[in-house]
Amino acid sequence: MHSYPEAAVTYADFRSWIWSCGITSDSRGLVCEPKASSESEMEIQARWFGGEFGRSFTGTDGEKIEIVQFGHWNRAAGPDFTECAVRIDGELKSGPIELDLDVRDWESHGHGNNPAFESTVLHVFTDGPSLNRFYTRSLAHRKIVQVQLPQYAWSQGPPDFLPEAFPGRCVAPLASMNDDEVASLLLSASQYRLHQKTVRLEVMSDSTHPEQALFQGLAEALGFRSNKTAMAVLAQRCPIRELRKMDSIEREARLFGAAGFLDREIFETKAQQESRRYLRELWDRWWKIRGTVEPSGKRAIPWSFSGNRPLNHPQRRVGALAALVEQWPSLRPLWESPVNNLEKHVNNFVKNLAHPFWIHHYTLQARPSDRPLRLIGQDRLRDMLGNVVFPGAIGRNESIWDEFLTLRKVDSNQKLRRASLRLFGPDRERQKLFTSYYHQQQGLLQIYQDFCLEDLSECSHCPFPEQLRQWQHNASRSKSAG
Ligand code: SF4
Repeated sequence: MHSYPEAAVTYADFRSWIWSCGITSDSRGLVCEPKASSESEMEIQARWFGGEFGRSFTGTDGEKIEIVQFGHWNRAAGPDFTECAVRIDGELKSGPIELDLDVRDWESHGHGNNPAFESTVLHVFTDGPSLNRFYTRSLAHRKIVQVQLPQYAWSQGPPDFLPEAFPGRCVAPLASMNDDEVASLLLSASQYRLHQKTVRLEVMSDSTHPEQALFQGLAEALGFRSNKTAMAVLAQRCPIRELRKMDSIEREARLFGAAGFLDREIFETKAQQESRRYLRELWDRWWKIRGTVEPSGKRAIPWSFSGNRPLNHPQRRVGALAALVEQWPSLRPLWESPVNNLEKHVNNFVKNLAHPFWIHHYTLQARPSDRPLRLIGQDRLRDMLGNVVFPGAIGRNESIWDEFLTLRKVDSNQKLRRASLRLFGPDRERQKLFTSYYHQQQGLLQIYQDFCLEDLSECSHCPFPEQLRQWQHNASRSKSAG
């Protein structure tokens, strides 16, 4: 037990438990220390600059990071350290480094809108939201590589939604169900959810036009959670039947202008040289229609800019929407007639989607990126399929349900993590097993919506656990009957 390194491992286990209580040990033995969050930013910066945390790190996206040069303390405004050199995945980069206590400080301190932080090469932090991913982006919406100091990873505070984040009363009955029973429960819940989406699209089609329902549905899927409503409003203010009558540049002028992205300041003072030609083309058309389209101040579309992946900047989402409309004739048949292998068709369609400007730009103002950027990534594609294409198609062809079941999962998000924690507790294996496919994720979200979000009693009055026994009973009866 005392041989090397068993004793150290035993102590390390003990230490990690102690740390979870906010108490640490040091080389002198067991010493109670405050949690790291009580250290000031400057103390941690000093430890960083002094090399106390080492030189080699792993970025939040798995990048291999080596600090070649810690640079200099900045004595003026701007990032904390200047003239630093960092090797990221083998590529040497130079520029400032910013160190914050919380990753969200980047936005709350206004760095994301401050040109002085534009060339930052690394954002180092100790803490952040425990379930949400928070991206660091520059004014030009360039993604800045992040490092969470591993020494502080344990110090994350309680989940931001603590009242809802505990394992629920249904963990035990779910654990007593076998995998097939749980799978069938999720499958049923997901089918119910899909049907709700089909009904919604049908109602929207009846109220407006099938093409407009499709257009709005796709716009919402492109907007993701944070800009779903904003994109829906944009699609409503720029109806597809009007956009289809316009040539490409007029259509884009209409979309970007209605979105509120064509203010004169961007064009005249902020845009990079490379972007000005495109903006000039948009402006030449926009000023002619502006008077009849531009919303007044308080009617402007409220976009959410912070915390999104750079690729999901709202301007890129509008660019992707414009590209979809450009290819509308090849998209419409997917909606109108039965198609075998919908996923493959939509995948090919999205892969071939291009736009001369948006294939290289994060925003209207930014410099071109070195590499081409996909207009629609895998997760947006999956949401377009799951929220619009399949719900629309299944109304005409019920046999595509089997195809729906083969759609792979999307990246986890806060709601999904919350749902799987509440239903499966700490059972990681089951959390993983039952979030591998899109329909399973949808089933989980449906149960969460139907029961967890309806419950105001911290589970004690929720009927779901008792109903599970009934579900189990029914499942075993139908199995023996089969
Ligand atoms: S509210 Fe109901 S479904 Fe949600 S975790 Fe509690 S018991 Fe489970």
